[in-house]
Amino acid sequence: MVSNVLFFALSPCFGIISEMTTKELQRFLANENNDPLHAAFDKKVRVHPGVKGEPIDSQMIQRVWNDSLARKGKKQKRIAYFHIPFCETHCLFCGFYQYPYRIEEEKYYIDCIIKELEMVAHAPFIKYHPFHAIYLGGGTPTALSAKSLSRVLKAIYNTLPLANDCEITVEGRLYHFSDEKVIACLENGVNRFSIGIQSFDTLVRKKMGRIDPKERLIERLNYLHSLDQAVIVIDLIYGLPYQTMEIWEQDVTQYIKLGLDGVDLYQLNIYPGGRLEQAAKQGIIPPPADVHKQADMFARGVELLNQARYNRLSICHWGKTTRERNIYNILARKGRVCIPFGAGAGGWLKGYFFYQDNKLRSYYQRVERGEKPISMGMKWSDYSNLFRDIVGDMESLRSCNLRGIGKLYGFDLEDIFSPLLQQWERVGLIKMDSGWMELTLAGEFWQVNICQALIDYFALVVKEKGIKPGERA
Ligand code: SF4
Repeated sequence: MVSNVLFFALSPCFGIISEMTTKELQRFLANENNDPLHAAFDKKVRVHPGVKGEPIDSQMIQRVWNDSLARKGKKQKRIAYFHIPFCETHCLFCGFYQYPYRIEEEKYYIDCIIKELEMVAHAPFIKYHPFHAIYLGGGTPTALSAKSLSRVLKAIYNTLPLANDCEITVEGRLYHFSDEKVIACLENGVNRFSIGIQSFDTLVRKKMGRIDPKERLIERLNYLHSLDQAVIVIDLIYGLPYQTMEIWEQDVTQYIKLGLDGVDLYQLNIYPGGRLEQAAKQGIIPPPADVHKQADMFARGVELLNQARYNRLSICHWGKTTRERNIYNILARKGRVCIPFGAGAGGWLKGYFFYQDNKLRSYYQRVERGEKPISMGMKWSDYSNLFRDIVGDMESLRSCNLRGIGKLYGFDLEDIFSPLLQQWERVGLIKMDSGWMELTLAGEFWQVNICQALIDYFALVVKEKGIKPGERA
């Protein structure tokens, strides 16, 4: 039972949270029910954990962007993201669909991305340090023609200083990803394909609006793999309608049989008001898996990949070979500099987040005027770097060096978080070891809740005590 009394009796660091009530604290704690995998929290946080920043006045955005590029900045690994917002079909579960693919539009869109590249080509910040990962995402980059893929990749190669071992990923699907397009990518430096499969099961795929049957997927993946020129990773989703546990096991097992370089296991996100939710509500499709079943599917996926001795590269990503490095995703999670290109792309540098115009017409107009087409800018909070270090470690290592990160920023994080850490350890979400917070299997499943709770709790405590970065609590 929750009472609204001061919470100092339960915590050794009552000095920090003396004003916090048990009610306030309760929202950060897990449920005490001996079933942390299925029911640690009432609701699952679905998006990446984050913290709100301060919006930049729209009149100032261009200046902030230009000023950020005008100076060299730190020698720090960088990445660049290119957004291709077109898809040939709209998959039922997808919350990322933006525009239908039209061949007559793609040339102009690629012209605009190339113009964006030319705008930044001579900026001191861009030239100062090599890029370590380039990611063409979407939407569906593989929907582009071979000619457009070549043009954009050549422009990237000729404009951005790329590290010799730069990871260059093209994301997409196998539908219409012809040999000619594959070769165009490989001839222009692509060394990683990230292919959305979601499920191999033909019925599940058909019901979700995917087109190729299982046999075709296997044939094309075998072809890509046989070229032996690039990392091949695939995405699988668990929790789709029609996808039983047996089908899910077959999905993961099929991936293992193919011997590909890497795999992401993503839980299905049901977007409120989205097409999948509507179809399920209207009884057109059966409901997708609930959190309880998703937890079981996650656990089974982890078990199968562990049995196959795959390398765990993050909470949801495994690599089979040393070829797979997952650099873009790891650096993005850690908040390393990311330069955005294309309509609807997001990026960040020098303490600012930038989101580019996602409306094609205004995106085109702004690029034509020689403007970086940013529609929204945000200054990160004072603690964003600390949070990004925590989240980056939790997502990539499944553990986090609270003691080390705390020292870096001048906070005793073990002390600040102690009420949460003690309770989470007791209920089986984490284990503490010499300042490291390590996630259990249940903790991995609820990792986004845990990270968001740490961020929100820290902000609350720091606000209450008025602690500044660099000061001890
Ligand atoms: S899953 Fe991929 S191909 Fe399907 S709508 Fe979403 S972005 Fe487009």
